[in-house]
Amino acid sequence: MLIKTYVLIEKISQVSNTLYVSLTNSYSKRIDDLLEASEKALQVSYDEAIPLVQEAFNFVDESTDDERKCKLNYTLSRIYFLKGNYTRALDYAKNGVDVCKNSFEISPLLRHKIFNLTGVIYQEQVEVVSATAHFMKAIEALKGLEAEYKQEVAGVYMNMAIISYHNRNFTESLEALEEATRYMEELDFHVGMFRCYNTYGNVYNELNELDNAEIFYQKSLKIVQKLNNSQYLANTYSNLSNIAEKRTDFEKALRLVRKSISINQLLNSEAVIAVDYRRIGVIYFELGRVEKGIEYLEKSYELSTELGSNKEALVTLNSLADACSKAKLWEQAYHYRTLQGKLKSKMFSEEKTRVLSEMQVHHQLERKQRETKILKASEEKIRVYADKLAESNQELERFARVASHDMKEPLRMIKSYLSLIKRKVDKLGDEDLNEYMFFAIDGADRMQVLITEILKLAAVQSKSHKMSKVDMNDVVFMAKNNLRQVIAERNVTVNLPSSLPIVEGNMALLIQLFQNLIANGVKYNRSETPQIDIKMKEQENTYQFEVIDNGIGIEEAYFDKVFEMLTRLHNRTEFEGTGIGLATCKRIVERHEGKIWVTSEHGKGSNFQFYMPKAKM
Ligand code: ADP
Repeated sequence: MLIKTYVLIEKISQVSNTLYVSLTNSYSKRIDDLLEASEKALQVSYDEAIPLVQEAFNFVDESTDDERKCKLNYTLSRIYFLKGNYTRALDYAKNGVDVCKNSFEISPLLRHKIFNLTGVIYQEQVEVVSATAHFMKAIEALKGLEAEYKQEVAGVYMNMAIISYHNRNFTESLEALEEATRYMEELDFHVGMFRCYNTYGNVYNELNELDNAEIFYQKSLKIVQKLNNSQYLANTYSNLSNIAEKRTDFEKALRLVRKSISINQLLNSEAVIAVDYRRIGVIYFELGRVEKGIEYLEKSYELSTELGSNKEALVTLNSLADACSKAKLWEQAYHYRTLQGKLKSKMFSEEKTRVLSEMQVHHQLERKQRETKILKASEEKIRVYADKLAESNQELERFARVASHDMKEPLRMIKSYLSLIKRKVDKLGDEDLNEYMFFAIDGADRMQVLITEILKLAAVQSKSHKMSKVDMNDVVFMAKNNLRQVIAERNVTVNLPSSLPIVEGNMALLIQLFQNLIANGVKYNRSETPQIDIKMKEQENTYQFEVIDNGIGIEEAYFDKVFEMLTRLHNRTEFEGTGIGLATCKRIVERHEGKIWVTSEHGKGSNFQFYMPKAKM
């Protein structure tokens, strides 16, 4: 007998295990679906993708694997980064990194991605040390897998090279470039190769190693011709001309900058053209062709002024004044210096007013933002909680339904074996054994009642309950009819209004509601003649019902508690029950968009009241 019981227990635990696993799997599937949907939404707009990922977060729980947790954070961080919201992007990236740090489950590629993204965000915020540290971790994540993920590894080295270059750490930049270039060349990835060569050239140019700089700019030139990218091409000519100029090979410099300008003219890149004009002007001056020099510098000045680029205009005026002084054109030099001075003071006063008004606007904006932020945050919190709650309720219902349904079968087995065992035990005439048998059978019976009740509760939420016009006279009649036996046995009087309204609802659920309330009114009642009064008040938009009994009543402290699942105020020896009936009533009323509550005078009876909206006739 023991062995059989053990086998049964084992079976029940297997069933719950399977259920648990299937629940976890369905969470994971939902997360994957939402992530896939968010990738699609991303192609349309960032804002459409965000709620999808946020919804997926609702399915993250302790059983969700770390890979998915990390991926969700990575995805949201990436979206916010693309949106330009670096603060939020960093928050999510950091969460992702935390998941990585505490887990061995994360795949190397994802580990790499989250560290690289965090590095890029730091890079954007000019936090060089943190950025570099994260880039190094991103590379570490793919250790041993470099051959498989060349492009990813190369990308990180490139990021490291650029950040070091901007930070004037040229040695580090060169080291990273060496790695990046090696991979890019192996992959024969032209854009990557161009970026590497170009950065190499820039680093050597800064270091004044002109030969090396030229070698790399030439290499970029070769690649760029294959790439067919005009902007990169113009940029490379301009870089090469810069080297020629530094070497005082002004003819060559002029030729190259002219090439750059003709491409920029095709591209209509006016701001770059203004810079090219200035460079041509300066080179002409160097070549001793003063008039031409002035002509181009003037052109540059005009274009910059037209484009509203005061800074460029100022640099050009400075070049003009310098060049004229060198050429001993004192009057012109004076003229340009005066213009330069005027522009400077104009820029200064403009800047002053701009800063002042910006401060004002900023101040107002900040206040507004603070207010809306608080509002938004609380709105979002409420929404997130509401969504979470709804979702988790649904999951719970589903779980309860499946679990109770699957438990029915093993329980049936327990009960039938128990009845077989009982027959044998009866023959033995052992009093102790008889008592044990009684408890075992009683337990199994109670479990069966519980399962049925749970199933009923879970069924309330089921979508199969259609709403329609329901005559409450029929509802109460049916409820009474179902309880006719106990009504007769306990000598119960049920008083009703002469007529009850028609409401929008589900007949089966409403019968269950009245049945539970009437049955409780009779059960928790020690009167010889229990009395149930059903009343109805019509309000503007609702019908309010009351089910009043003359029973034992409820203490005020428990008015809310009685509606909670599995809450009982009495033990089984006093009154039989499961503590699920009123929880079911509450859900039924809520499904009808109503509300239920109780008032009572302890010892004198209870009054259960609920309202529901009127039918839309
Ligand atoms: P059950 O009746 O199965 O225990 P319910 O959810 O229907 O579960 O009720 C929860 C508890 O609320 C009951 O255990 C009882 O203590 C109390 N209760 C419910 N209805 C009444 C009533 N009409 N009068 C007094 N107490 C009640």
